[in-house]
Amino acid sequence: MARYWWQCLSCGERPSWPAVCRSRSVAAFIWDELAPSGWDQRLLLRKCQCNRRSLRITYRFRGSDPERLSVKHIVGLTPHDGYLPMLWETFRHSAPSRRWVDFKYQRGRSPWGLTKRLVLERRELARLLRAYERATGAAVAPGGAKRTITGFWRRSAKTSL
Ligand SMILES: [Zn+2]
Repeated sequence: MARYWWQCLSCGERPSWPAVCRSRSVAAFIWDELAPSGWDQRLLLRKCQCNRRSLRITYRFRGSDPERLSVKHIVGLTPHDGYLPMLWETFRHSAPSRRWVDFKYQRGRSPWGLTKRLVLERRELARLLRAYERATGAAVAPGGAKRTITGFWRRSAKTSL
């Protein structure tokens, strides 16, 4: 079972869950604070005792793996019968500019599904991507493939003039 903690990306401090928020675990934090806030992404970046706003939820890629990841965004759907599908955007500490997208779920305050495979109905995936866009102000895949190709040709045309 993966463990999740708050870690300051400036000074390395690892304060306890209750020192940062009102919850004692990641699943409780998501269920009791993040989801009810309407997925307010500011709750994922907290102030450290070093005075910098650089505390993020952090975990290991795999249990025994030394590689650490921190959470940039967590967005989910409105829970249905306690079932909460989510999209996590993360980065590895070794390459912070590369972003990873991880689909996870939890049932109520149980973290069990956080390490399990998430299977979504296609329309739920569309809803999840729209929820991400609303919460972060950016699309997961901006423009889509078609527009990217058009943009590429437009740029190529400009440079050839
Ligand atoms: Zn700090």
